[in-house]
Amino acid sequence: MEPGADFETVPVPKPGDWLAVHRETGQTFNQFVKSKPNRPNKIRKRIYLQPLGEFSEDQVPSVERLREYAAAYFAMEVEVLPYLILKGNKITKRANPFTRNRQILTSDVLAILKKNIPGDAFCVLAITMEDLYPEPSWNFVFGQASLRERIGIYSFARYDPAFYGQKRGKDYEQLLLRRSCKVLAHETGHMFGLQHCIYFKCILCGSNHLKESDSRPVHLCPVCLRKLQYSIRFDVVGRYHNLLRFYRKVGFDNEARWVANRLRWILGVEAARAIIEEKNTR
Ligand SMILES: [Zn+2]
Ligand SMILES: [Zn+2]
Repeated sequence: MEPGADFETVPVPKPGDWLAVHRETGQTFNQFVKSKPNRPNKIRKRIYLQPLGEFSEDQVPSVERLREYAAAYFAMEVEVLPYLILKGNKITKRANPFTRNRQILTSDVLAILKKNIPGDAFCVLAITMEDLYPEPSWNFVFGQASLRERIGIYSFARYDPAFYGQKRGKDYEQLLLRRSCKVLAHETGHMFGLQHCIYFKCILCGSNHLKESDSRPVHLCPVCLRKLQYSIRFDVVGRYHNLLRFYRKVGFDNEARWVANRLRWILGVEAARAIIEEKNTR
């Protein structure tokens, strides 16, 4: 079956883009199944978010929004663990040797997550506005995960224009939420054993720089959607419906339009109308 017109093929990589630097051969659906990826089951059925350190006073990005998004995206229960504060926990900090901004050591956080993983967790993802480093010789890292141990940590710090000393535009809250949602969807996708995508413009495409990750869509391509659906067994229409509600609620207009088009393509224009024209009552 043709996937429809809503998916774009991957453009020829420009110098510096992910695929110009990394030789990736892709992961077909069959390769994915053969890799025996972790799958949620009756016991390991929840995704946990572990906020780490401080989120700014006005809570950008909002941890609750990120929770709602992950719940819609993965069609699973998502819970937020009590905030893990830096003070009083064995978490090594340093000042970055070049920029002098504060950074925290990822392995210390991963050790804490590993020790405290809830019995019903499919995975635990620490999210933070702190900048990270994986070992002293490194300048920084966006995040780090252990798939086997089902834990990961990701920083949104470098998605905030203020990190680079740039002025925050008036739409920066939405920008930061969109970027954070993308990081969450991409990295949580890896937790399900999805490797980088080379088939379409897709949330699972690798990215080497901010411009590339900004140009990456938030949706899953047909190949990656099939992998995730195999793993979680969600109802595809129900998932799109929940995503449509979320996108409307937070004002992600392009994403909402995209999902509405998918629903029209799957259900037909008439049948999709009831879902698409539903007023956002929440
Ligand atoms: Zn990745
Ligand atoms: Zn894909």
